[in-house]
Amino acid sequence: MANRRIAIVGGGAAGLAAAITASRQGAHVIVLEHKDRVGKKILATGNGRCNYTNAKMDPSCFYAGDQRGGVDSPLITSLLKRYPTEKILDFFTEIGIEPSERDGYYYPASGQAAAVLDCLRAECDRLGVEIHCNSDVLGIQLVTGGFRIKVRTIESEQEGAAEKSGRTEKSGKIEKRGSTSNLKVDRVILCCGGQASPVTGSDGSGYSLAMDLGHRIVTPFPALTGLKADPKRFKPLAGIRARVCASLTVDGKSIRQEEGELQLTENGLSGIVIFQLSHPAIYSHLQKKKTEIHINFLPQWAEGDVFGRLRQRRDQLGHKELQEWGVGLFPKKLWLQMCKEAGLPLMMSASQMDNRCLSRLQSVITDFTVPVTGYLGYDRAQVTAGGVDLRDIIAETFESKKISGMYFAGEILDVDGICGGYNLHFAWASGMAAAEAACR
Ligand SMILES: Cc1cc2nc3c(=O)[nH]c(=O)nc-3n(C[C@H](O)[C@H](O)[C@H](O)COP(=O)(O)OP(=O)(O)OC[C@H]3O[C@@H](n4cnc5c(N)ncnc54)[C@H](O)[C@@H]3O)c2cc1C
Repeated sequence: MANRRIAIVGGGAAGLAAAITASRQGAHVIVLEHKDRVGKKILATGNGRCNYTNAKMDPSCFYAGDQRGGVDSPLITSLLKRYPTEKILDFFTEIGIEPSERDGYYYPASGQAAAVLDCLRAECDRLGVEIHCNSDVLGIQLVTGGFRIKVRTIESEQEGAAEKSGRTEKSGKIEKRGSTSNLKVDRVILCCGGQASPVTGSDGSGYSLAMDLGHRIVTPFPALTGLKADPKRFKPLAGIRARVCASLTVDGKSIRQEEGELQLTENGLSGIVIFQLSHPAIYSHLQKKKTEIHINFLPQWAEGDVFGRLRQRRDQLGHKELQEWGVGLFPKKLWLQMCKEAGLPLMMSASQMDNRCLSRLQSVITDFTVPVTGYLGYDRAQVTAGGVDLRDIIAETFESKKISGMYFAGEILDVDGICGGYNLHFAWASGMAAAEAACR
């Protein structure tokens, strides 16, 4: 409907995609963003390169609703059917972002996340979207025919920052009362994100806005983050990177297996392979279940070959002391730790290793077991698991079941994806879906 006034709370990935979509359909769109610029998190994505979608788009890459096993949810299945990878690529090509693909991961051809944000903002400007930065939404009230939004203008950051951010206040429809004002709109889309990387603006305030209007929140926790383990064991290993196969077990049962880069830190485990396991690992740790990561440091050797190849190496390099024997196969600090954990003296001659020694070594190398003792917080996490309960959301439209005319999109919802462009894909796609429905 032309001239329908739609407020979008939060100018992140979901909010900007929603703003463009609604504005293209003729709505009068007002984005309220409490930071001094929109899209701060977009700039940090993909190590500054923005991995904005993925060629393999499948419900199994998401955790949604109470389906904690990374399995199907009607909301995700329906969204991915309507907004597959091609549709997201087309949306970005139309605003000037040419894709560059590597192993299925899509980045802008320029390799810069800033380009993605620049093009989104330019399209908002072209369409006349009103972007109000330094505008903190404090409350949303249901009134006849729509919503009244209480906005606090953040004075300290306002001067100068407004110019830098290029924000516009074309309509002048925010009536200022001191530092708070009220905005009357027909529809509202909540795109406040979760709590991950709070420095970019997602401070969890969206949950209070949702709860005030009767929505349930599935307890949030950080995901795509590092896992903590015994610091005494890991301090000497900090800085080591290796390509491994890692599997997560919960109460002894294997849950998920991933291959990729592992980083050892003084806190424990990090790197993409750990991020991919982090959601179920943190979830089970929070449930006080026995949570372990099992690392195979030789994934390139077939399981059945490992023992034979170690024996062959012993025969070839039997003249070396054990402390030198594993160098060239593993980083030295890691190798020394492996010997220690296998109970083998460093000065021992490699030729003295009998089959029992080799078998002990094999099990440390291919099943390096790490009990998870904790996880890194929101400041180090890429995403928030949990959020607005999907039972309160209509799967096709992202409209609230409790409050008609109110929509949700992006990370504020109880949906999170694995690494690989899935979280941004969900943010863009849900933003578009909510905006299309809000314009109907
Ligand atoms: C370091 C890092 C790297 C990442 N890399 C990738 C990647 O390469 N690929 C990928 O797919 N995903 C990546 N992610 C995840 C992805 O960035 C997020 O899932 C996605 O940006 C979420 O979008 P959103 O719009 O829902 O929330 P956000 O981007 O968090 O935006 C929410 C916005 O709402 C504003 N806001 C919140 N509350 C209020 C309020 N009360 N009033 C006004 N404004 C408010 C915030 O300031 C913020 O601008 C990464 C995340 C991080 C932290």
